[in-house]
Amino acid sequence: MSLLAPWLQSQLQTLMLRSGHAFLLQGPSGLGQYELGLALAAAWLCQQPTSDGACGTCPSCHGIQVRAHSDLTVLMPETEMLALGWPLSEKAQKDIDEKNRKPSREIRVESMRQLLGFTQTTGSSANGKVVLISPAERMNTITANTLLKTLEEPPGNTRFILACHAAHELLPTVRSRCQNHSMLWPTVEQAGQWLQSQGVSELQTLVLLQAAGGRPEDALALYQAGIQASQWRALPMQLSRGDPGALADNPAALVLSSLQKLCHDMLQTSVGGPPRYFQAGDLPKTANFKALSQWSRELLQSAKSVDHPYQQGLLLEAWVNRAQVALSARG
Ligand SMILES: [Zn+2]
Repeated sequence: MSLLAPWLQSQLQTLMLRSGHAFLLQGPSGLGQYELGLALAAAWLCQQPTSDGACGTCPSCHGIQVRAHSDLTVLMPETEMLALGWPLSEKAQKDIDEKNRKPSREIRVESMRQLLGFTQTTGSSANGKVVLISPAERMNTITANTLLKTLEEPPGNTRFILACHAAHELLPTVRSRCQNHSMLWPTVEQAGQWLQSQGVSELQTLVLLQAAGGRPEDALALYQAGIQASQWRALPMQLSRGDPGALADNPAALVLSSLQKLCHDMLQTSVGGPPRYFQAGDLPKTANFKALSQWSRELLQSAKSVDHPYQQGLLLEAWVNRAQVALSARG
């Protein structure tokens, strides 16, 4: 099994000692819910687990490593399945390949129906079966209601792990049927070491971690999107001059979340608070609270439609112009 990050390893050991048939791993994104959920599933299914988790070498562990385990069902949006190397159902793959259907960003009700079939068959070993749903908030109402029935009457020896980044978006009835586990945050040192183990240089880690609000996986995602620490630090002043800097050529969601972080920090510092995502010295010196509040509301509005199709170049230009206006308004 690939080595779990240290803050996840201790949580895995805690969870392995708990009994129950459904667990909700919840917290903000970027803390490792999916990795922890998969490690817990592997430990439950492993033929010779230790107190540290799955052995990593038995046939069950091998089945998970090659993404083909008859007693594990993974429910994810198709976009995430593809990104994490899980196979889609034959039919879904065919629709995407031949009918040009876009991979779904929701957990489709079709996969939930397959799940029902899965829970009704007998598991191949005494360890039972496991269902991992990630991120669980991507179930639409129909899918969630289908799951609810299974959670109410759990089929013999099937256990559920719901990895979640926005527990408030889950049906309360789904939440209440799960044992809750709140994800722990890594220390700055743990997160820094983990980032270095993923190939981020030591000099970059602190700035990128701050840019990600302390969430290590999000910091890694920034790094993988090609954002360097020096570029992040230069961004506020560049935007105040109408220059997109490192945001150019990045996906809309990343651009928008970066603008929201900058807007947040400008609002914070304009009322004497500490910035969260940037260093105070890197922010424009003057701020106009009213202009920033207005910008903040507009960004929130844009965030609601960020997944919709759009012309990337035009939108980036409009957003950067808008940022320049808000950042250069005098107090
Ligand atoms: Zn094993």
